[in-house]
Amino acid sequence: MEIKTITKGDIFEKIPSKVMNEMEDAVLTVLREWKMSKLDLTKEFERKFADWHGLKYGLGYNNGTAAILGAMYGIGIGPGDEIICPSITYWASCLPAYTLGATVVFADIEPDTLCIDPNDIESKITDKTKAIIVVHYSGMPAKMDEIMKIANKHNLKVIEDASHAHGALYKGKMVGTFGEVSAFSLMSAKSFGIGEAGILLTDDREIYERAIIFGHYLRHDEVHIEYLKKGIGLPWGGCKQRMHQMSAAIGLVLLKYYPEMMQEIDKARNYFWDLLEDCPGIRAHRPDKNSGSTNGGWYNPLGLYRSEELGGLSVTRFCEALQAKGIPSTAGCNKALHLHPVFNTLDIYNEGKPTIISRAKRDVRKLRGNLPVSEGIQEKVFTIPSFYKYEKPVIEEYVYVFKKVINNYKELLPGDKGNPKELGGWSSSFRR
Ligand SMILES: *Cc1c(COP(=O)(O)O)cnc(C)c1O
Repeated sequence: MEIKTITKGDIFEKIPSKVMNEMEDAVLTVLREWKMSKLDLTKEFERKFADWHGLKYGLGYNNGTAAILGAMYGIGIGPGDEIICPSITYWASCLPAYTLGATVVFADIEPDTLCIDPNDIESKITDKTKAIIVVHYSGMPAKMDEIMKIANKHNLKVIEDASHAHGALYKGKMVGTFGEVSAFSLMSAKSFGIGEAGILLTDDREIYERAIIFGHYLRHDEVHIEYLKKGIGLPWGGCKQRMHQMSAAIGLVLLKYYPEMMQEIDKARNYFWDLLEDCPGIRAHRPDKNSGSTNGGWYNPLGLYRSEELGGLSVTRFCEALQAKGIPSTAGCNKALHLHPVFNTLDIYNEGKPTIISRAKRDVRKLRGNLPVSEGIQEKVFTIPSFYKYEKPVIEEYVYVFKKVINNYKELLPGDKGNPKELGGWSSSFRR
């Protein structure tokens, strides 16, 4: 089979047209009834999103960053506290800590899961550590058993940033249900995309009420805990953070179809990787088949790259060869946050010192040490096409091209200029 032009078609359409039509009606209803800033649809969406996870409380936000800030405030993060966060993630997983006067200690990731390495957490814990931020990176569930064991041993809270993994399972249980609180971005590029929007989930009434008091002043009728009731009437800080009801309306539609859509995505992408299982140079970024864990909607799906199995061919050259055949794969992932000036030298709040240490008892830059996996992982990953439908012939076309490029790797070696000095992106600019 020689493929001249690769199929582009509706296998890459994220939202089926039937669902899109329903979303359009839902949004127009919000507009016509002028309910953009009201709470009725948002509360219904929160209830249903929380029920989907089997959790008691959901709180809708205007974005995921705000939901993470709310989660941090919810568990009591404040001045001088330290949180532990993997260096490979989107900045919003940890940067809200600065807003609360806290600081960040970075931990390394594992080269295969790309999630926080449980073995690199304990050496980062001090008397000021309050919480571990866990990110289920690119849909991959982090090792929650090991992480919760460490958290319980040291009496730390766990915030799950599940922005990449809506609906993913860890050993049969949904991600976002392991820590004390979880936060999800629901912005449009995410797997469960309905906004700009975000949501916080928890089973803990105090976390929920603290999150309300911080940025949701219209909901103070839900605050019953005595010490919080004393401050009712004004928000305790933050910004006005509630979800736009057009997003809630879209979310109520998407919730009806997402589990089914996710099953199809999971089937399609697993099929792609099953066909490439024995291929040298590349590995699937997915959990073991019989572990009960899944990638959910496979946000920003990645492959792991093993240059040494292809004669040292750079991932950049590998992706160029795929692109020349019409496959939009790109090299790299997020850059290591611990190398950015924001987490090293910048004095963001005019305190006369770099913010990373201005509120800390110690120089937390030293505490993190080297994070070799995070610093080099960008050369070892690439994006795979986002198949949204289980259309076997189309997926097989793509697999054919991948195999062809890999089988001919020797022809690519002479033209290989290697990777550029900077691979990956600080935000998501690596995804073109
Ligand atoms: C997208 C994202 C966020 C922030 O969400 P926004 O809705 O963009 O504010 C937080 N954490 C991770 C891991 C993300 O990918």
